[in-house]
Amino acid sequence: MGWRPGPRPSFDSGCAPLRLRIDPDRCQGHARCFAIAPDLFDIDDFGQSSVRSDGVVPAGREDAARLAIANCPEFAIEAVED
Ligand code: SF4
Repeated sequence: MGWRPGPRPSFDSGCAPLRLRIDPDRCQGHARCFAIAPDLFDIDDFGQSSVRSDGVVPAGREDAARLAIANCPEFAIEAVED
């Protein structure tokens, strides 16, 4: 049985803006995040994902951000609240 990460962070629907980060050491270039939310993620020529702009999720796009996090098989996307 392989290594499994701990529980994913919970998301409170508070007032703080959601900011995304991607761990480049974990990202394997599946592009699922980009397929779900191309306005939040970008993919380079090697398939590595990055967050657009400063990673702040615009109002109304929180669900897409959470869906992308839940669909990343490498647990490479992290959400933090400022
Ligand atoms: S889904 Fe995860 S592993 Fe795949 S490109 Fe996006 S961040 Fe990287």
